[in-house]
Amino acid sequence: FVLASPTYLDALNPEQRRAVVHGTGEAAPGPLLVIAGAGSGKTNTLAHRVAHLIVNGADPRRILLMTFSRRAASEMSRRVERIAAQVLGTSAGAVTDALAWAGTFHGIGARLLREHATQIGLDTAFTIHDREDSADLMNLVRHELGFSEAKSRFPTKGTCLSIYSRVVNAQDDLDAVLKTTFPWCAMWSKELRALFSGYVAAKQSQNVLDYDDLLLYWAGMMAESAMAAEVAARFDHVLVDEYQDTNKLQSSILLALKPQGHGLTVVGDDAQSIYSFRAATVRNILDFPSAFSPAADIVTLDRNYRSTQPILGAANAVIEQASERFTKNLWTERQSDAKPLLVTVRDEADQARYVVHKVLEARESGMALKSQAVLFRTSSHSGPLEIELTRQNIPFVKFGGLKFLDAAHIKDLLSILRWSENPRDRVAGFRVLQLLPGVGPGTAGKVLDAMATGPDPIWALGEIPTPPRAGEGWAGMVELMRRLAKEEAGWPAELGYARLWYEPLLEQAFDDAMVRVQDIVQLEQIAGGYPSRERFLTELTLDPPDATSDQSGVPLLDEDYLILSTIHSAKGQEWKSVHVLNVVDGCIPSDLGTGSTHELEEERRLLYVAMTRARDDLNLIVPQRFFVTQQAKHGDRHLYAQRTRFIPRAMTDLFEDILWPPVTPAHIEGLSPAPVRMDISAQMRGMWK
Ligand code: ATP
Ligand code: MG
Repeated sequence: FVLASPTYLDALNPEQRRAVVHGTGEAAPGPLLVIAGAGSGKTNTLAHRVAHLIVNGADPRRILLMTFSRRAASEMSRRVERIAAQVLGTSAGAVTDALAWAGTFHGIGARLLREHATQIGLDTAFTIHDREDSADLMNLVRHELGFSEAKSRFPTKGTCLSIYSRVVNAQDDLDAVLKTTFPWCAMWSKELRALFSGYVAAKQSQNVLDYDDLLLYWAGMMAESAMAAEVAARFDHVLVDEYQDTNKLQSSILLALKPQGHGLTVVGDDAQSIYSFRAATVRNILDFPSAFSPAADIVTLDRNYRSTQPILGAANAVIEQASERFTKNLWTERQSDAKPLLVTVRDEADQARYVVHKVLEARESGMALKSQAVLFRTSSHSGPLEIELTRQNIPFVKFGGLKFLDAAHIKDLLSILRWSENPRDRVAGFRVLQLLPGVGPGTAGKVLDAMATGPDPIWALGEIPTPPRAGEGWAGMVELMRRLAKEEAGWPAELGYARLWYEPLLEQAFDDAMVRVQDIVQLEQIAGGYPSRERFLTELTLDPPDATSDQSGVPLLDEDYLILSTIHSAKGQEWKSVHVLNVVDGCIPSDLGTGSTHELEEERRLLYVAMTRARDDLNLIVPQRFFVTQQAKHGDRHLYAQRTRFIPRAMTDLFEDILWPPVTPAHIEGLSPAPVRMDISAQMRGMWK
């Protein structure tokens, strides 16, 4: 029984409704593109479409829904359930629980590869390297090839990984990538080619995949027609949010899943494309309609439901200056007298005080902390603010920055688990072996070589005589590895065993071992939420929990907290009140981003994304002195900053320009002494060492 016009459709405007009901009743609706500006209801429309498909009989197990983060995917599932419940009543929960294929491209890729591993020549026990592990492996290979010592100006491991990743994701040629994106490394083309080939061989012999492999192997699978047909046949509908930030590899996967575009829906906004540094290309969304014959249906939305008129007007003005633009300006019915604030402060310390002052003021007037957010370009920019928030006891959660899992002791424990899951994983093995005092890289390397010779590395480990300086911990480690490899203790008890072995070492290695032990308790709690070690490792590697106000990194998810986020990680979200830090030249646009028009335009879109997160209040903060942490070799320095070039004088009418704290004679005196130099961001980073 299906309602002719279910009430959930009434809440939508006609364009949104057209997108939601597109092809209803057809077995294979044609391709659909929703391209529209910020806050126009794209994500909301997508959620309605999924619910509408389910209500009309689509099998939720056969719907593939890809979003920008796992958080976005679970938020979407909740919305779908709420909408479907209007028709299905309480049974909607059960139906949407079956919406099992909702996640990120990488997460979905990992699952499909695990299921099809044996068919594509992968060992099902493969482990996944995060970026840091990948850079470490790149480094190991670099050393083996002798590129690091002999040639002192050879690119760093991080740069090598970026180049490699770019080549893979853009599906481009190495020399072309070097020429356009890394010209200063072009002289190393031959060596890099050898390095990357060694890196690929190392991954394969160790049975590990990096992030890029999750897409690359998936695309590889789709290039083989029988496999492609098998995977494609699993999904009737494929829907993608934030399509403007996908790269070539991702679009090739989609096209292979739905060659005629039947059942394919993508939504996005070209004015919000901010991931070209990860090889995302706005061409994907612009070329989508013509990729099919007949061409995809296009729905555009131009009413913004999120922001007040003054906020939207200012955001429109910023993006209007762009040299290239596709979506139209938005309009809203939300009137307000409150213009966005352009707040000039002396320095970053005042900036932090201003934000705390405003946040507390808003909370006193009844606005929950969770309805407020502070956005910034780079994770380290929130350092002074984090200190101020901690001092004032304001809880916060930080998205997109350093993660809980980046803390050394957490990585140690995860490496133990990963190494037992896949004893051929050298990066994990290196890390675990060197936890033993007296075992250095030389010894660790020899042990790993010895383990690699036989068919059973863990057995081989037991046969190796205790290395001279390995001490008492050695026997315990061998025993632990045996036990974990056999998987007899079960999950999450295995983590408990790892902890028993690791804690004494932790106490020797860190002065603040007590705090770190609490993190481990927290990790055990998180672990309890996963059905198996493999799922735990995979999901934590792909989408780790975020760091929080608690110094130990314990996620305080049930209380009220302020959101701190990089602009990149704030994509798709909205808050009543938004503060944007360091709206100055040198930050937005960054020094690095002013090289070409292309880069500059991406910086403009970044500011646009930040501004369009706000519903009611928007504060853009302009510190007159701004502390830039450059790459180590340049050293840190202060800049006397100008407000961003994206808000020129002519635009000032759209903002309320204020000085904070209000000018007093004392304030003017306070401006004269030389700035105190204090590397707060380094301190903050130190917290995680
Ligand atoms: P972004 O570009 O930032 O991802 P978006 O286009 O995906 O934004 P949504 O997040 O879906 O926009 O919606 C923005 C806000 O507008 C949400 O609060 C949503 O609930 C609201 N909204 C969307 N459509 C409607 C509608 N037809 N009526 C009322 N509110 C709506
Ligand atoms: Mg959205």
